Amino acid sequence: MDTHTYPVTRTDAEWRARLTPEQYAVMRGHGTERPGSCALLYEKRAGTFSCVGCDQPLFESKLKFESGTGWPSFNDPVPGSVENTVDRSYGMIRTECHCARCGSHLGHVFEDGPPPTGLRYCINGVALKFEPAA
Ligand SMILES: [Zn+2]
Repeated sequence: MDTHTYPVTRTDAEWRARLTPEQYAVMRGHGTERPGSCALLYEKRAGTFSCVGCDQPLFESKLKFESGTGWPSFNDPVPGSVENTVDRSYGMIRTECHCARCGSHLGHVFEDGPPPTGLRYCINGVALKFEPAA
């Protein structure tokens, strides 16, 4: 079980009230949205992607790239905003990433991304909200 304490904590009822059923399944149930299902995949404007669980800025549009996977993909998060843990579910060893502020599941990290980091943060778009740069 996850015993880590986050700066933002909510009860299960509070999470269900704040999130849509799909967001809840992904963010609190470690689910995965259907590839290509989220409009944020096609978001190309300059701006910031924030956590729908706690409003913390997580990713900048300049580090977003088209990975061809059907999920929004980023080179690197905003420093300190995302934490990684090892995920051994489904018989695979993957790096899971979640919001450092509220602990909500975001997606997984793979080491096959483009330069400069070589990382690919493969993120469920429903966990993000986009704010265009002013
Ligand atoms: Zn959050």
